[in-house]
Amino acid sequence: MGEFELIRRHFLRNGPPQPPQVVLGIGDDCALLQPTPGHQLAISCDMLVQGRHFFADVDPAALGHKALAVNLSDLAAMGARPLGFALALALPQADNAWLSAFAQGLFALADAHACPLVGGDTTRGPLNICITVFGELRPGQALRRGAAQPGDDLYLSGRTGEARLALELIQGTGWARQHALPGALPRLRERLERPAPRLALGQALAGLAHAALDLSDGLAGDLGHILQASGVGADIHPALLPVAPDLQALPEAQRLDCLLNGGDDYELLFTAAPAQRAAVAAAAQASQTPVQRIGQISATQGLRLLNAAGEPVALTPRGFDHFA
Ligand code: ADP
Ligand code: MG
Repeated sequence: MGEFELIRRHFLRNGPPQPPQVVLGIGDDCALLQPTPGHQLAISCDMLVQGRHFFADVDPAALGHKALAVNLSDLAAMGARPLGFALALALPQADNAWLSAFAQGLFALADAHACPLVGGDTTRGPLNICITVFGELRPGQALRRGAAQPGDDLYLSGRTGEARLALELIQGTGWARQHALPGALPRLRERLERPAPRLALGQALAGLAHAALDLSDGLAGDLGHILQASGVGADIHPALLPVAPDLQALPEAQRLDCLLNGGDDYELLFTAAPAQRAAVAAAAQASQTPVQRIGQISATQGLRLLNAAGEPVALTPRGFDHFA
């Protein structure tokens, strides 16, 4: 099977009609996209490398899903609407069973968000998946990392920590095995391998929230990007962090570590003025996304964890020793 046959077989689709923004899709030297008049383009690119971002034996359908999901999550974090994406693929060999499962996972998510594949590149090499997404938004409405203001409320969509616990279980970490509920791994693995990009929420927050980002490397660390870009600090109330049922049985230190330093959560962390509480609640409801207020932005630099009495508690250090 040559390169063109591979593309035709797995990535060219004659099924669903192309959405109107696609003037020209796969097959020419470039794709042509038509953004809504008066909108800006939002562009993001994320690469998944075997051994670093996924295991060699990962379910290819889950990999197809995740490769697109992490990119769509970036659009969500900016408040953008997806227009389409390009796929650059390096493959050690042309394995039809693997490719069709990969394409199935990829297109299921693409179709769910009306985000068509419009082009790409295919080459032989160590397995490597690079997706570029294109989105659009109204000028001035992007949710930028530098836009947090002292006094803002700090919000989290969904909940964090399950992907991290999945990873610990897969790696056989002692505390995770000891405290995980029976049958938890399939549920947790789903959270690790099939994150749901919060696109509806992101778009509902555009022009309403101040700063936002999507959580890929852990809540505390990623929040640091907002704090640094905005020149502000934050106080988090750990007691307000939503805790998944599968995390409830963990000892407190490990639970807090999963919640704050987990990674691979792909939830949105955002700030908004207290005057916008009702509007944020409406955006959460309209997008059918749980949203929780977890703290405040402050003019005092740094990140602090506060107990119920409002007193600072020690931050769980990153790279915490998990008693493995
Ligand atoms: P070129 O040599 O001009 O870069 P290619 O031969 O690489 O073109 O690709 C031919 C067409 O197939 C182009 O429209 C390209 O965007 C598309 N394409 C190549 N690989 C992929 C892929 N993995 N997924 C989607 N489209 C692809
Ligand atoms: Mg090419």
